[in-house]
Amino acid sequence: MASYAVPLMKTPAIPIADSSDLFPVHRIFCVGRNYAEHAREMGMDSNRESPFFFMKPNSAILPNGADFPYPSKSDNVHFEIELVVALGKGGRDITPSNSHDHIFGYACGLDMTRRDLQSEMKKNGRPWEISKAFDSSAPCSEIYPASKIGHPSSGALSLKVNGQTKQKGNISDMSWNVAEIIAHLSGYFKLQAGDIIFTGTPAGVGPIIPGDVMEGCIDGVGSLTVKVVAS
Ligand code: MN
Repeated sequence: MASYAVPLMKTPAIPIADSSDLFPVHRIFCVGRNYAEHAREMGMDSNRESPFFFMKPNSAILPNGADFPYPSKSDNVHFEIELVVALGKGGRDITPSNSHDHIFGYACGLDMTRRDLQSEMKKNGRPWEISKAFDSSAPCSEIYPASKIGHPSSGALSLKVNGQTKQKGNISDMSWNVAEIIAHLSGYFKLQAGDIIFTGTPAGVGPIIPGDVMEGCIDGVGSLTVKVVAS
């Protein structure tokens, strides 16, 4: 049997709440501008355009309680609190009414963004990876199985920095709900067990600096706390 020329990559995994099991992360999909008010604060009109997607590598996962190293080459790094959906079953062309069968559970995540670089990439019509897919750009709480918490269709989500509320919204305000997101995404990709989806952020995004403590919470799902440190 051939051996590997470089060490085989270990699959990143997220703890499952109240369990010793881990959830192995395959791909990280993210939905852009899925709350009208956030679309407006980003200078876009808030008409219900079809959902659009970008990705982060699974190595970008940062577990709850870990330090977030402030990334290089940016002076304007933003938090985005988001509901995360973890898929337990894959498939293509999944219908909205079948989508719940494919969900293992939910989590509370942060889509960390180098906003200055993202603006530059947007302006020049270039890909977003350097602004969205950097190391540790996907802090994520434990996964809460749907078998325990159900499939939340509403629930307040909030992000505090140093105890002060910065983002406040409700997952019921998503332009495209979880079922619709899975339906759209599975038209473009054959989804797989282990894929996770960041479902977009409400208004109020803003910058952090080293020393800040970010606390994200989604009612009915879970919470996470991440401290920003100089790298
Ligand atoms: Mn986002």
